[in-house]
Amino acid sequence: MSINRANSSMPLVVQKFGGTSVADSQKILAAARKAVRAQQRGNQVVVVVSAMGKNTDTLIGLANEINERPPAREMDMLLSTGEQVSVALMAMAIDSLGAKGVSLTGGQIGIKTDSSHTKARINSISTERVKALLDDGNIVIAAGFQGVDDNLNITTLGRGGSDTTAVALAAVLGADQCEIYTDVDGVYTTDPRVLPEACLVRQVGYDEMLELASLGAGVLHSRSVEFGKKFNVPIHVRSSLSDVPGSLIVDDAETAGMVVSGAALTKDEAMLSIVNVPDVPGAIHKIFAPIADKKITVDMIVQNASANGESTTISFTIPKDEIDDAKEAVAGALEELGCELMPVNDNVSKVSVVGMGMAEKSGVANRMFRRLAEGGVNMNIITTSEIKVSALVSREVARDALRIVHSEFDLDKIEPTPGTEEVKERTALSPEEVIERLRGLGMEDLTIDEITLDDTQSLVILTKVPNKPGVAAELFDQVAAAGVFVDMIVQSHASDDVADIAFTVGRDDFDRAVAKTQAVSDQFGCEGVSSKREIAKLSVSGVGLRSHTGVAIGMFEALGSAGINLDAINTSEVRVNVIVDGSAGKAAEKALKQQFASSLR
Ligand code: ADP
Ligand code: ASP
Ligand code: MG
Repeated sequence: MSINRANSSMPLVVQKFGGTSVADSQKILAAARKAVRAQQRGNQVVVVVSAMGKNTDTLIGLANEINERPPAREMDMLLSTGEQVSVALMAMAIDSLGAKGVSLTGGQIGIKTDSSHTKARINSISTERVKALLDDGNIVIAAGFQGVDDNLNITTLGRGGSDTTAVALAAVLGADQCEIYTDVDGVYTTDPRVLPEACLVRQVGYDEMLELASLGAGVLHSRSVEFGKKFNVPIHVRSSLSDVPGSLIVDDAETAGMVVSGAALTKDEAMLSIVNVPDVPGAIHKIFAPIADKKITVDMIVQNASANGESTTISFTIPKDEIDDAKEAVAGALEELGCELMPVNDNVSKVSVVGMGMAEKSGVANRMFRRLAEGGVNMNIITTSEIKVSALVSREVARDALRIVHSEFDLDKIEPTPGTEEVKERTALSPEEVIERLRGLGMEDLTIDEITLDDTQSLVILTKVPNKPGVAAELFDQVAAAGVFVDMIVQSHASDDVADIAFTVGRDDFDRAVAKTQAVSDQFGCEGVSSKREIAKLSVSGVGLRSHTGVAIGMFEALGSAGINLDAINTSEVRVNVIVDGSAGKAAEKALKQQFASSLR
């Protein structure tokens, strides 16, 4: 792949206009004016456009009228036409304003992807043609959301994927900034259409935005944020209706000491529980490998051991529209392992809070649980990571739950501050640096920053907790009151009546944590407390791990082959953690380092 700054003497800007920003001819003309103005100010300009308005939805509707499960290749052939309409019209608009513009499809640019139709990943982008056109004074108008595979089949990147096209182009062209023009003023503390009291946030860090986007903040396609982080591209999310600055997604965001910086809702989730899974190393891998092969994003994987230690229950969530694919995928493993899929609960939503401040400050999870309990909201599954807490709740109460947590962390009271377009001390990566970062990998291939072993913690499990609001709140309030810092929390779904809550604490706090947990067990009539003083926590951290469905699965595979059993798991976009027995820590670390050797930076 050749990667070059288009013309090193001129700044380069990529501007992306989403569907609502090109919904009709007047809007296309308005967007074209922004592009022409940017060029007149001395920039080289690449414009990336989405399909007009709701055109992609319309095309999907048409396909479904003809075939309930249309072939994915043909779906891509169809959906890519939406963007093709927009680029041509945008080029005409630019021409009408007296500037030079050339429209290109993904294939014409040379956006090469893998062959996973409707959710393809970008392997490489060639820059020659775009550069030559830019150097010739053109505004280059690129069709978002699409590419071609090695056989020139048209592929698409997944819903919302034009953002990813834009940031990827910005990365390979060494752009100074990528502007995402949309129908809101920037990134809000939560979706302002769901909670009107949401506030605009001026700066968000890449990691926070990665979590937020992957947890439901649809303002950016999460993979666009992966590119931003990987290639150090500042992303400026702003309104296409005005010229005011919006929100900057950058490395070192100034977040004014906020512990929680955003909340998000993933409305249409489904929860799958598999019971009677033999409690032996490798079983979990057999279940998830075929799901990963189908590129289904698995989230909130939780596991709880049975009392007899012979079998476990594994629960996980997936997007609701992938239930059929997931069922098909696991069928073989269920038969081989002799386990059973319980009826799917497709009436759940995930509520999450995200913030860098959580990594240092305790008290976020228990505050969230307490307020949800007071609001009568029951949590089916809980998972936490260093910078997020997620709870699975039933869909009817999801919006109320979001509002409750949003207000608990004062996200509705953020004072407006003036925005800026200035990105401090940021320069595009040099072509050499981009190539160095890729090291022969595809652009969206997995990159892992670190694999770490923490063998200073203990595990406490409160078992058979009655499935009603308030127990988790009481447990973590009491534990916090005892001055114990809780690291990882996993509540698994044992059955519709009971749940298990597992958490990790520093070994020095173990006895106090167990005593408090026992008290809560007595208070609520739980089954009891089980615990393990010596555990090891293995963490794999990197970029976009959850959307790279293979990461958790790769961990299961490596640990299974090494004969190591898992006690708990939690997944997030930037880190996957597993808990194993303390005696297996070093072996587990070695197995993981081997497994991910080719992806480790
Ligand atoms: P586009 O067509 O421009 O890509 P999208 O509909 O994909 O627009 O994204 C913009 C929408 O994202 C907003 O209209 C808003 O409803 C939604 N959204 C979700 N979460 C957030 C958030 N945290 N901040 C801002 N907008 C959000
Ligand atoms: N048109 C595509 C979609 O609606 C891509 C995008 O808008 O980003 O999902
Ligand atoms: Mg979008």
